[in-house]
Amino acid sequence: MVSSTRLVLRKRTQAPIPVSVLPGSKKRSRSKKGGAEEQEDYSNVCCEKCGSGEDADELLLCDKCDRGFHLFCLRPIIASVPKRSWFCPSCSNNKRLTTFPLVQTKIVDFFRIQRSSLSAEAPGQDGRKRRKRTGSSLVMSKKRRKLLPFNPSEDPARRLEQMASLATALIATGTEFSNELTYMPGMAPRSANLAKHEREGMQVISKEDSQTLNLCKAMMRRGEWPPLMVVFDSLEGFTVEADRFIRDLTIITEYVGDVDYLKNRENDEGDSMMTLLSAADPSKSLVICPDKRSNIARFINGINNHTPDGKKKQNVKCVRYDVNGECRVLLIASRDIAKGERLYYDYNGYEHEYPTEHFV
Ligand SMILES: [Zn+2]
Ligand SMILES: [Zn+2]
Repeated sequence: MVSSTRLVLRKRTQAPIPVSVLPGSKKRSRSKKGGAEEQEDYSNVCCEKCGSGEDADELLLCDKCDRGFHLFCLRPIIASVPKRSWFCPSCSNNKRLTTFPLVQTKIVDFFRIQRSSLSAEAPGQDGRKRRKRTGSSLVMSKKRRKLLPFNPSEDPARRLEQMASLATALIATGTEFSNELTYMPGMAPRSANLAKHEREGMQVISKEDSQTLNLCKAMMRRGEWPPLMVVFDSLEGFTVEADRFIRDLTIITEYVGDVDYLKNRENDEGDSMMTLLSAADPSKSLVICPDKRSNIARFINGINNHTPDGKKKQNVKCVRYDVNGECRVLLIASRDIAKGERLYYDYNGYEHEYPTEHFV
C-alpha cells in the first residue's frame, strides 16, 4: 500500500554497474524482489557520517568510491535511493555541470516558448489583478483564501537566467521539458485520470483558483516564469531557490510527468514518483513519473523528516485537486518565502492533502 505521497521503495541504487567497477571487484547488490543475482557482502560497510554499520538496508553506496552513507545521515536526508548513479558528497564535487547557454533563442527553443512574447515588457499586464485586502471582517476571514498566481521577475534577462538554470538541470538528468501531465502509449491513458475514483473524494478546485492556474500556465507559455532558480548543491544535488519574494498561497508549479498506473510501477524505482490518484480500487491508482518528462517540480527537495528543524524548513505544500474531473497536483507556497530561500516540501505528506489550513 502506498501510504505516502512520495513512494519510498528502494534501498540501493538500481544504477547500471559503473564501468569503473572491474570484474572481480565488488558489485552493487540489488534489492529487486526475488532477485537471485549475486548479493555482495556489504556487512563491513559503515556509514561515513556516523561510523555505524547498522541499518544496513538504509546504507547507500557511492557508485564511485563505494563508501557507505545512511540515507538518514545525509544532509538533508535522501528520502529514497536514487534511480540513477549516486555519488557521495566528495565524489560529486568533482562532477562538472554543463551549463545551458544563456542565449535567448536557445532557451526559447528548449522550452518551446511562444516567440512573439518573450519581450522586454513587464509581466502580468493581462488583467492579473492585485486583490485588495479589505480589512479583516469576519465574513472575509471565514472565506477560503484564494490561490495566487506566481509573480515573475520583472527583468527579462533574469528570467532567462532562471530558465537556463532549469535547462541545465533537465539536461544533466536526461529529462525532457514538459509543463503538463503526459500520457504515453503503454501507460495509463488520459481517460484513466478520473478524480471521482479518489478513495475519499478529491477537493474540487474553485472556479477562481482554476482561473489562476490557467493564468500561470498561460504566463509560462509566454516565457513569464515563476521566479525560481535551480542551483546545484554538492550535498543536495539540484535544488530550487526563490529568486524573489513569494507570497503564501502562491502557485509555484504543477507537478508533471508521465502518468502511469501505480500497479505498473510497484517495482519501478523512480526516485520522485508522486501520487496522482489514490483510488478505492487500487488497480485504478495513478502516479506521476517525472523521470523522462518534467518541469522544475522534480528539483524541489524534501524536508528532513527526521529532525524537528525539518518541519520548519517546509515552505511548500503539495496539494491534489479535481480540475474539470481530472486529478492534478500543485505545489503551493505554504508561507511567505524570502528571496534566496530554498524550497522544501514534505515528500511524506498525507495521502489526502487538503489545504485545510486555508480555512479559518
Ligand atoms: Zn550513518
Ligand atoms: Zn564517493
